[in-house]
Amino acid sequence: MDDECDYLFKAVLIGDSGVGKSNLLSRFSRREFRLDSKPTIGVEFAYRNVRVRDKLVKAQIWDTAGQERFRAITSSYYRGALGAMLVYDITRRSTFESLTKWLEELRHFGDPDMVIALVGNKSDLSEAREVAEEEGRGLAELEGICFMETSALKNTNVEEAFLEMITQIHRVTS
Ligand code: GDP
Ligand code: MG
Repeated sequence: MDDECDYLFKAVLIGDSGVGKSNLLSRFSRREFRLDSKPTIGVEFAYRNVRVRDKLVKAQIWDTAGQERFRAITSSYYRGALGAMLVYDITRRSTFESLTKWLEELRHFGDPDMVIALVGNKSDLSEAREVAEEEGRGLAELEGICFMETSALKNTNVEEAFLEMITQIHRVTS
């Protein structure tokens, strides 16, 4: 950890393959959009320093690098994670329906105090929308977690979604 950093947080990205997790992360960590991201093997992660009130937080965000396709995310992926960004694709209903499975997995492997942020990505594709914004919000309210629709392509709400999660982690841990 950097000397000038007050906290190091680990957070994980989860959700079905193709929902845009890797592009959300590259937006947040490098402020760029990769149009064609290749699924690689192993875990990838990115860091970003964020100021939360008077503290400097180093957020370490883990990305699955494709194992979610084989439902092969292991417990070590979740170990020590204080936050999870659970992502679905608003243009693919099946990715919204998978959320039940992902929430179960989070409850099973994740810390009970883990902050969960639900994210409906690809909000730029409104003409292809299969999940209404109210459905996402409704589920989040039911689960007591925060919710935002984002577009990694247009860079809409990406910063906000990550910062909301990081701020909540800070609140829970301090
Ligand atoms: P992952 O499997 O969840 O990591 O998904 P990726 O980040 O690899 O993205 C899957 C595909 O969706 C890629 O072709 C991206 O270019 C595309 N994509 C990701 N985010 C968005 C978005 O916000 N809008 C649109 N239109 N496409 C996106
Ligand atoms: Mg990916």
